Amino acid sequence: MQLQGKVALVTGSTSGIGLAIARALAGEGAKLMINGFGDPADIDRECSALGAIHDGADMSDPAAIERMMRRCADELGGPDILVNNAGIQHVSPVQDFPPEKWDAIIAINLSAVFHTTRLALPAMKSKGWGRIINTASAHSLVASPNKSAYVAAKHGVAGFTKTVALEAARGGVTANCISPGYVWTPLVEKQIPDTIKTRGLTREQVMNDVLLAAQPTKRFVTPEEVADLAVFLCSEGARSITGANLSMDGGWTAA
Ligand code: NAD
Repeated sequence: MQLQGKVALVTGSTSGIGLAIARALAGEGAKLMINGFGDPADIDRECSALGAIHDGADMSDPAAIERMMRRCADELGGPDILVNNAGIQHVSPVQDFPPEKWDAIIAINLSAVFHTTRLALPAMKSKGWGRIINTASAHSLVASPNKSAYVAAKHGVAGFTKTVALEAARGGVTANCISPGYVWTPLVEKQIPDTIKTRGLTREQVMNDVLLAAQPTKRFVTPEEVADLAVFLCSEGARSITGANLSMDGGWTAA
């Protein structure tokens, strides 16, 4: 229970990687605010299981983010741990990429990270302790076709994280990215129909020849593996790790 007394806010934690991180942090004793969309009954059940509160702020809406951050401070006294994890994807060649999808991906995957961070940092610095963990992606380091907005946003998150790490370095606050390869979550599952359409492939071909093509281990990363690394980054043993972009991609970006 190394995180007893700490407050954690995990954006996009009603599903996939964020939910696994929220569960792992709660398992270490952190008080949780979760965020994200979903069936209200499922969210209530998860809140009861974690002893968490939920804020449904839309990460594309800076005013909603400000309200969520204020609520986290007023009701829980945090966050001490901020996990920027909410993210969406859209797969399309640049020339056909719908501008509204570009704007949504940049807003949710990149600009929201700026907004939560700028609002969380002052209290972390004054407490002399904080952990900012951004779920980036192998796509913060390398590109794939048809993912222009996502690749641009994730490269942006990696750069932003380094800047925050430098600005917060003397204040006991670390800022790092975790960059998974393909993790089996609803976000990946949703890409399959579009990839079938844009590349004219079968479901099995998309899984094996597209998604896992670049992942030398030939298996999906699990959300729990990502959560284990997030817990480590919150530990005192990780206090000198800052400004890092930690790959967890089965060797993808080593190639
Ligand atoms: P997911 O679709 O399972 O979960 C996404 C979460 O974000 C959900 O809780 C959803 O409700 C929330 N969300 C979406 N739009 C939102 C919005 N506008 N406001 C608030 N919440 C919103 O996806 P996942 O695979 O768990 O992805 C989580 C993060 O991990 C994303 O940033 C994604 O880019 C990153 N990532 C995923 C993979 C992968 O292979 N799954 C790989 C690398 C990085």
